Amino acid sequence: MPVLCSSCAEKRAVLKRPKTAHSLCKECFFWAFEEEVHQTIVSAQLFKHGETVGIGASGGKDSTVLAHIMKVLNERYNYGLKLLLLSVDEGITGYRDDSLETVKRNQQQYELPLKIVSYEELYGWTMDAIVKQVGLKNNCTFCGVFRRQALDRGAMMLKVDKICTGHNADDVAETVLMNVLRGDIARLRRCTAISTASEGEGVVPRCKPLKYAYEKEIVLYAYFKKLDYFSTECIYSPNAYRGHARTFLKDLEAVRPSAIMDVIHSGENLSVREGVKMPVQGTCSRCGYISSQALCKSCVLLEGLNRGLPRLGIGKHHRLHRKILSQQPLTQVEERKLKAVDF
Ligand code: SF4
Ligand code: ZN
Repeated sequence: MPVLCSSCAEKRAVLKRPKTAHSLCKECFFWAFEEEVHQTIVSAQLFKHGETVGIGASGGKDSTVLAHIMKVLNERYNYGLKLLLLSVDEGITGYRDDSLETVKRNQQQYELPLKIVSYEELYGWTMDAIVKQVGLKNNCTFCGVFRRQALDRGAMMLKVDKICTGHNADDVAETVLMNVLRGDIARLRRCTAISTASEGEGVVPRCKPLKYAYEKEIVLYAYFKKLDYFSTECIYSPNAYRGHARTFLKDLEAVRPSAIMDVIHSGENLSVREGVKMPVQGTCSRCGYISSQALCKSCVLLEGLNRGLPRLGIGKHHRLHRKILSQQPLTQVEERKLKAVDF
């Protein structure tokens, strides 16, 4: 016998919601999913009427669902937002070039302006070239640091008030786990925040409207809505540590679906003992971007790339950063240390 939707009790249920285990028809699922995102936006006061909001768009399922939902909710609830798409081209042949084609189609489908900023224009390096120099072990460190700044730079060019990104509940829970495993208190504190205020000049406030949306539901939403998204993984995605955290979380979710929300809530409720030293935010003396060191991570990585010393930004070499900043020559041993790459 067909199961009826537990919400409308009229149509046939086509899915069981991973988050609540309710059997729902397509329309009731869409409504429930969209309303939850709306509630997240309203209760955390993510936006103000009249703001210009850049949606970080990669062409993947999360950001495509985010762009779609932001457009729907902006119209349904009259948020009064000016929306646009903001994409970063990391310069990864066979991956980003294809996914950007998807973003360009999304731009047409959702009739939103699109700005693409590329690593090549901002840093003079594509990820393809970076991987050739640094290998496949630390490439995501470069990519992550560069992306963060690239989004800010794109947002500044477009004069947006806020950036929203497609980070979902699984991403946040994974990050909580990773920061617990690494004992990174500063990041642990920041990673569960649904929005960040501007931390300084050149840094645009960010928020995560899908913070409480399960990845499985995002996939279902995109599938039933027939959204046009790109589902191939990055060709340089070893990122082993996050992969382990992800597998661990998926195992937990299989025995207890609320595990994702439980981990997020745990992260949100952790408090840091008084007296624990936190990094002090300043600005990079070279590019002016926020940094807790004399040089921001992006400038250090770039300096390493440009000098053929790729290990400069990986691991702890603060003493050497200072040396480089004051243009002192490195010893042979220091050079060797910074050159060695694990391929
Ligand atoms: Fe960049 Fe790594 Fe993500 Fe690929 S997997 S896009 S290299 S951060
Ligand atoms: Zn800098």
